[in-house]
Amino acid sequence: MQNNFETVNVLGLDFIKATQTEFLEQLKRDSQTKANRFIVTANPEIVLAAKADLAYAKTIRSADYVTADGIGIIKGAKILGEPLPERLTGYDTLIALLSFANKHQKRVFFLGARPAVLQQVLTKVATNYPNLVISGSCDGYFKDEAKVAEQIKQAEPDFVFVALGFPKQEFFIAKYQDLASAIWMGVGGSFDVLSGQTKRAPKWWIDHHLEWAYRLLKEPSRFFRMLALPKYLLLVYRKKYLKY
Ligand code: UDP
Repeated sequence: MQNNFETVNVLGLDFIKATQTEFLEQLKRDSQTKANRFIVTANPEIVLAAKADLAYAKTIRSADYVTADGIGIIKGAKILGEPLPERLTGYDTLIALLSFANKHQKRVFFLGARPAVLQQVLTKVATNYPNLVISGSCDGYFKDEAKVAEQIKQAEPDFVFVALGFPKQEFFIAKYQDLASAIWMGVGGSFDVLSGQTKRAPKWWIDHHLEWAYRLLKEPSRFFRMLALPKYLLLVYRKKYLKY
């Protein structure tokens, strides 16, 4: 991890203690100096996955910035007595970086999601961010990983957004990060939201910390994935009171 932020450890991962503004300012500086950076936006599911898989934990620890995506991380940090300022979500960071890339004519590579979703993302980006250069793209259902990596290298991107879901996207970035001195970020389902395929929760739900409940109502199939939340909270309380 290479950054100037203090961190807060939540069940084994070190989350940066930064506001959205501070984080974005740092990323803009990183981009202007052509630094090679790896961002993980982690939620409770990712914390549990890292606890269960040492290789995944190591991969996340190799990132430059691990941010609190999800209210569960903010709550967990507070319960453990070291609060974090606010959520730094993959989606919000993606949108802010697209604006920055547009303003400075940066080169952006889009990797991931279903082919139709990716196409919609590219159309939307071309319309809304006309000065940004789409230096390349590839949907997330490729067969030849090495070929995709080569494509990214040739594209010489300033930003690489990887929407393969976790843990795939983090493993991919850690493996290929050296092919381009860029800002690499795993963005999970963000392309689906950007394309309009999936709606993000309305502001009221987000403000009331109920984005997870909104997603559950819209996609009941996520129920089993969401069982991670109570399990995560249990581990947070165990850490607080039993210290392990
Ligand atoms: N995805 C992909 N390739 C794969 C598996 C998943 O491109 O092999 C994409 C999928 O189409 C979706 C995203 O990865 O756009 C994962 O979305 P999900 O909501 O599961 O991600 P989360 O944000 O919960 O990690």
